[in-house]
Amino acid sequence: MTEHAMVHGSPTHEVLNQSPPFADIDLFSTDVPLADAVAANGAGTEVLALSAFGRHWGTAEMLELGRLANENPPKLRTFDAKGFRRDVVEFHPSYHQFMRESIGAGLHAMTWTAEGSRAAAPAEVARAARYYMVAQVENGHMCPVTMTRACVGALAADPTLLQQLMPKIVSRDYDPSFRRWEGKSGITLGMGMTEKQGGTDVRANTTRAVPAGDGYLITGHKWFMSAPMCDAFLVLAQAPGGLTCFVMPRFRPDGAVNGLHFQRLKDKLGNRSNASSEVEFVDAFAWRLGEEGRGVRTIIEMVQLTRLDCAIASAGLMRMALAQALHHARHRTVFQKHLADQPMMRSVIADLALEMEGVVALVMRLARAFDRAGADPAEAAFARLMTPAVKYFVCKTAPAFIYEAMECLGGNGYVEEGMLSRLYREAPVNAIWEGSGNVMCLDVLRAATREVDASRAVLAQLEKQAAGLPGVSEAVRVIGQHVLGPAAEAGARVLVEKLALLAAVAALHTSGARAAEPFARSRLLNARGATFGASELDAGETALLIDRVLPAD
Ligand SMILES: Cc1cc2nc3c(=O)[nH]c(=O)nc-3n(C[C@H](O)[C@H](O)[C@H](O)COP(=O)(O)OP(=O)(O)OC[C@H]3O[C@@H](n4cnc5c(N)ncnc54)[C@H](O)[C@@H]3O)c2cc1C
Repeated sequence: MTEHAMVHGSPTHEVLNQSPPFADIDLFSTDVPLADAVAANGAGTEVLALSAFGRHWGTAEMLELGRLANENPPKLRTFDAKGFRRDVVEFHPSYHQFMRESIGAGLHAMTWTAEGSRAAAPAEVARAARYYMVAQVENGHMCPVTMTRACVGALAADPTLLQQLMPKIVSRDYDPSFRRWEGKSGITLGMGMTEKQGGTDVRANTTRAVPAGDGYLITGHKWFMSAPMCDAFLVLAQAPGGLTCFVMPRFRPDGAVNGLHFQRLKDKLGNRSNASSEVEFVDAFAWRLGEEGRGVRTIIEMVQLTRLDCAIASAGLMRMALAQALHHARHRTVFQKHLADQPMMRSVIADLALEMEGVVALVMRLARAFDRAGADPAEAAFARLMTPAVKYFVCKTAPAFIYEAMECLGGNGYVEEGMLSRLYREAPVNAIWEGSGNVMCLDVLRAATREVDASRAVLAQLEKQAAGLPGVSEAVRVIGQHVLGPAAEAGARVLVEKLALLAAVAALHTSGARAAEPFARSRLLNARGATFGASELDAGETALLIDRVLPAD
């Protein structure tokens, strides 16, 4: 028996043929498609900083913290021992560590200036690349990080309030203390829109807001309100003038704890490190944000940003699953050959890699549109039309993708000590929250119908960028013809998927990626088989795609 087996194995047998831990890797430099997408979208100057970030987040310590944060979910402390209300949620130290890291790196605010306007390009792409790496390690804590950055978009409706809050929002200090936001070194923001009778249809909200002094008193409930230890929440409620957006702090201006009574924390499939509460508002104080009756219009500024993050996060989950699958397949021998050399396993991994190439190119291209939307109407139109399309496509693809990657690890993929089971449980939430799949498709149709010329220009631009590749002309014809047609709603999933695939082809092609042609051939021209591994890639394409996933060690 070798010394290694004596130490790490078992007295009854030698432990052989298991892949070494996947840890202590640079999440940026080992990911060629990511580096290519970052460079293609204007953030090439960030490479050194991204590599340092990737090395830190890829350490064994960070990966272990991710496990701990999810195996030790938050606990709601509704009352103290004497029966007084507390309404606080306690998190494991690993969760706080992640919050400190992500806020310290500015992921909650680096796309804003201290005044609350947009930071200069390539802030969005630079942030997106970091977010993508963080999602590979721990996704749950990113919920308040995302909401904090996105809320700024809505807070712009009240410049005075924005000016007051901005110094606390852009702070790189994570301050989890439970006290008034004015005395804290940094704050986080959440949001409460969804009620029992309807989440998508927020106009059905029954929560009421009554004017009182400098603000309003709100009574009602939210059926989902995540990250309840945030310092304030954007909340929708029915004011006298209709559905209105409010900012509800955890403490009233007089210093008393505000009337947010948490009922329970959701017992969730995944996303375990994050707390998602059910809450009742009992005369809870709030400031109005925007005009009465304009609640949806105000909050919509926020949801585009949260939807972008859903897509980036899902892409990150997919990347970690793929990297682990290939790492394992390169070390595991079955029938005298490494799995990574078995022809059918190569087809599976290459097809996953091809999907990943398209997905990462697409999300970074979308991030670039956010970078440039302020100065370029064409990029603003791209962001408007493509955000729901990309969220739909990437978030809906992730669970099946991660499942296939899990199977590459065999039984090891299915057990909790590995990471694949967590990635798999985490994936569906990004498709559900911030507008579920069908709602994203309806939003694409809404953008196409309301901004016909701008949307047609986006389609024309995609056609030009992807010109000559297989299936492009037909996809453009189908989208252009049907997206405004009478049966558009019933067929919207087909149209939106085509639109996202076309945009992925365009993003790959403009960055010079060799994956553009096989991606177009196997996704636009020919419908991919029901499972990964059925894309009929040739040996050269297969080798290239696999090599780009991870350097061989
Ligand atoms: C873990 C977690 C955390 C969450 N955190 C928050 C939070 O912090 N704040 C918050 O406000 N919400 C939060 N949510 C709620 C989430 O945003 C909603 O669940 C989501 O928006 C869907 O709303 P719903 O559950 O009411 O479903 P419904 O609105 O009832 O939708 C059900 C299904 O019907 C589909 N659908 C809706 N309309 C149509 C249509 N016209 N045509 C075809 N199909 C349609 C939807 O796509 C969906 O698949 C969270 C949810 C989860 C799972």
